[in-house]
Amino acid sequence: MRLSNLAALATVLLLASASSSIAQTQFPTPPQKAFGYADFAPQAKIDAEFMAVPEAKLAGEHLKTLTAAPHIAGSKEDHDTAEYVAKKFKEAGLDTEIVEYRVLLNRPKDIKVTATDASGKQLMSGPTPEHVDNDPFQDDPRVTTAFNGSSASADVTGDVVYANYGSPADYKKLDDLHISVKGKIVIVRYGENFRGVKVYVAQQHGALGVIIYSDPADDGYVKGDKYPHGPMRPDSAVQRGAVQYLPIYAGDTTTPGIASTPDLPDSQRTPMDQAGNQPKIPATPLSYKDAAPILENIGGPDSPRDWQGGLPFTYHVGGAGAVTVHLRAIQEYKLWPIWDVIGKIPGTDEKDNWVVAGNHRDAWVYGAVDPNSGTAAMLETVHGIGSLLKSGWKPKRTIVFGSWDAEEYGLIGSTEWVEQHPQELQHAAAYFNMDVGVAGPDFGASSVPALKPFIRDLTHEVPSPKGGSVYDQWKVSQKEGRGRGGRRSSGDSRANASTDEDVNVGDLGSGSDYTPFIQHIGVPSADIGSSGPYGVYHSVFDNYAWFVMNADPTFVYLQQQARVFGLEVLHMADADVLPYDYELYGKEIQSYLAKARDRAKDTGMQNVNFTAAEAAAKRLTQAGAAVKAKQLAPAGDMRPLDEKLRATETALIYEPGLPHRPWFKHLIFDPGEYTGYAAVVIPGVNEGIDADDAVRTNQQMQILATALNHAAEVLESAK
Ligand SMILES: [Zn+2]
Repeated sequence: MRLSNLAALATVLLLASASSSIAQTQFPTPPQKAFGYADFAPQAKIDAEFMAVPEAKLAGEHLKTLTAAPHIAGSKEDHDTAEYVAKKFKEAGLDTEIVEYRVLLNRPKDIKVTATDASGKQLMSGPTPEHVDNDPFQDDPRVTTAFNGSSASADVTGDVVYANYGSPADYKKLDDLHISVKGKIVIVRYGENFRGVKVYVAQQHGALGVIIYSDPADDGYVKGDKYPHGPMRPDSAVQRGAVQYLPIYAGDTTTPGIASTPDLPDSQRTPMDQAGNQPKIPATPLSYKDAAPILENIGGPDSPRDWQGGLPFTYHVGGAGAVTVHLRAIQEYKLWPIWDVIGKIPGTDEKDNWVVAGNHRDAWVYGAVDPNSGTAAMLETVHGIGSLLKSGWKPKRTIVFGSWDAEEYGLIGSTEWVEQHPQELQHAAAYFNMDVGVAGPDFGASSVPALKPFIRDLTHEVPSPKGGSVYDQWKVSQKEGRGRGGRRSSGDSRANASTDEDVNVGDLGSGSDYTPFIQHIGVPSADIGSSGPYGVYHSVFDNYAWFVMNADPTFVYLQQQARVFGLEVLHMADADVLPYDYELYGKEIQSYLAKARDRAKDTGMQNVNFTAAEAAAKRLTQAGAAVKAKQLAPAGDMRPLDEKLRATETALIYEPGLPHRPWFKHLIFDPGEYTGYAAVVIPGVNEGIDADDAVRTNQQMQILATALNHAAEVLESAK
């Protein structure tokens, strides 16, 4: 349902609160067999009992409560949401605690941008408050001025240059035009890469400061009607967000690799000015309403034609002194308390093998889509699992639910918790993430290759609100070219299309809480979401009114996500043997290497030796196929095999980490140093090729070959 005016909004709100879930849900017939089970029938019965519990109406109520007030990390309202989540965890019978950390966060103290032309005439002064007609949430005094998390605190003035998305390739084009950003202010648009990367690259090029604006071509009127007439970004809406150098390390900037517990002495914290993931220059976000007068008057050469956005004038690159920008971005930095909520269900058998499932709870403002659609769905998952517990069911492996705080500032709550529990997590069977649970009807998922078939399989069991199963609709939406949209670019040009022909499960890059689990310590991870046209990301308009109007008026997609998330947890907790597909993992690595070989050839790189790594990847594929025979017919005590299966992912962790960024230790998937959100596969090798550095590429190739041989050996030793 899409409504085009606000007169109807009140009706929708009424309808939404009065209607309950679809009366007669048609559940797809469960499969007879599933990978990891000798006999799937008992599990299918538990699944059916579980899936009957999550309610659309209750999910909608959680969403309404969680988004009643702005709840930025560390605020009183954020703590209120932690208590709400803890209460729901306890009601379901989870062993629940609120875990506090103390972390460095900034709040905007004085943010101002003004622009003048050569004659001194003022062109704009902002930021303009975010405003549309009749939005019921926008005027709350607790809404924080739009700003960038981790921005340096500074006041700078200078000539201005437009640098498109601010990627290294964009700066190369500026070089070709003989435009330097040194000592100037860069204006870039959101999209393509992570915003922290935009600031990282600008800093490397000597810029004084960065303005990041939302172009209407990317998530505004070029893409569809603006809120409140549609889902896209209105003129004054601003995308807040962290500009932390996430590809260097995630988490609290003052404690890389260790947990920011409340009692951690200050002497163990890295001072902010020495922290490697902390920008040295200021950045601030703007709406296109505020950015337009700057871009229109910027002068200089015409921009490359693919830099043209959706504003109604020809974009130039500036750098000619036509516009002077004064960027005042004064931040207040201090240590704030943040609160993760942790709920556990002890396992009966492999109780040291945790199955962790989490979603962040903090929002830049209200965060109806990001992240509280995920939290609302997760609470209904917990509701369903609580009902199983009350009927006497117990999981075989321990289940841990996490409601993470301060994700928006740099994946902080999840990272600190992972850094506090590295030993326990060595045995964790999986981490399942949800962030943007529902922005629309199109299901999507990303995971390590070992879990791709696992995710696909369970979506056959979950009904879609559109009829059929989630799997069926997933297939349709991918065929029609929809699927995962929004803030995260999925996939990577360095990867081949998936080696199997089923629906595509993407690769894990970064930008959400799976990063510490998979990329820092090697817990097999997956991320799910349901996407749609969503132009209000990180603005005041990502609120309950927008959600019921545009994303999920009757909350049936929240219910769907609660069910998918729950089956991930239940299957991983109860499978007879861990359902990891290492044959597929090996094949995917072989395809990454084949692609890297082509890239090295295309760039004219000499003397890179792929032979050993290719042989090792093939060996892993073969070992994975051999072990699969055992996984397909589990019998007897499977714990020794589980241990080997789990240790295989750990073998892909390289303790010294990537060149220049030791916190990232996974040899197959990490965020790219220059992409941020998108995964760079076999990052050591591919970034060596990007840097045109044959010595580094060969070193990384050897490290990879050794690890792949080790992973294969672990599987080969499985009895
Ligand atoms: Zn989020």
